[in-house]
Amino acid sequence: MKNLSDISVIKDILSRHGFTFSKALGQNFLINPSVCPRMAEACGADESMGVIEIGPGIGVLTAELAKRAKRIVSIELDTRLLPVLNETLSDFDNVKIINADVLKTDLKRLIMEEFAGMKVSVCANLPYYITSPVIMHLLESKLDVESITVMVQKEAAQRLCAEVGSRDAGAVTVAVNYYAEAQKIFDVSAGSFMPAPKVDSSVIRLDVRKQPFIALDDEKLFFRMVKAVFAQRRKTASNSISSGMGLPKSTVLQAITNAGYGENVRAESFTMQELSVLANEISRLQRQ
Ligand code: SAM
Repeated sequence: MKNLSDISVIKDILSRHGFTFSKALGQNFLINPSVCPRMAEACGADESMGVIEIGPGIGVLTAELAKRAKRIVSIELDTRLLPVLNETLSDFDNVKIINADVLKTDLKRLIMEEFAGMKVSVCANLPYYITSPVIMHLLESKLDVESITVMVQKEAAQRLCAEVGSRDAGAVTVAVNYYAEAQKIFDVSAGSFMPAPKVDSSVIRLDVRKQPFIALDDEKLFFRMVKAVFAQRRKTASNSISSGMGLPKSTVLQAITNAGYGENVRAESFTMQELSVLANEISRLQRQ
């Protein structure tokens, strides 16, 4: 089996297949040999488990996952990589490549069809241009997966793993926190990739919650409110929420008072619990 993180091996494979990197598809391939084994370990892959990978590239992480897990299904958008993967993963009979856009893939169905009876995790070095959409697609689909271990830009990792209510938190932090417990696993320098991106990266792991830890009357309304709060985070909650959600300011002020907060409170520093109380109060007033 070839060493898929060796630059000369990668160059040889890619030139034989006439492959050139696509910036638009976020193609930065890993060349640091220590990263993929660590990622495969961090995602908890073992011989009883199924793993969904997104964007295998030339298969460097796929091979590490295939050594450890029972079955891998890897989704790659770039058709030009199919013959490459056919060559690089020929030693494994537990890998299936699907040529598709992950954002247009019905992952619930994929899990049912490909991983019946197995525990499933997601592991991927994500294309950075769609980091948040992919993570939200995975979480909002409410997939039956144990964890999601992904490489993302370092700044994105900081936001995704921030404590809700802290300065680093944003709407995406709240959304991730609702569905999962996030933690940073390790940092990866820009020089670990070919071509090297401009920024460093981090591997993070999201452990998917089996039960929601806040009680929401209206999940959609909660996320609309959170979006409004962080779109204008320096404004008072009454201003950001009323303008962002298109609600009368008097209704929002009433909800804020009913929830026990001061009229000039700013919701960017609210905890998940506090955000949920306010959203439930707005929902209750709207139903009246
Ligand atoms: N896993 C490889 C590695 O670590 O070297 C490649 C990672 S590279 C950062 C991202 C990969 O995602 C590329 O192979 C790219 O073609 C693929 N990709 C980009 N957009 C995609 C999409 N929407 N759906 C599936 N794969 C995608």
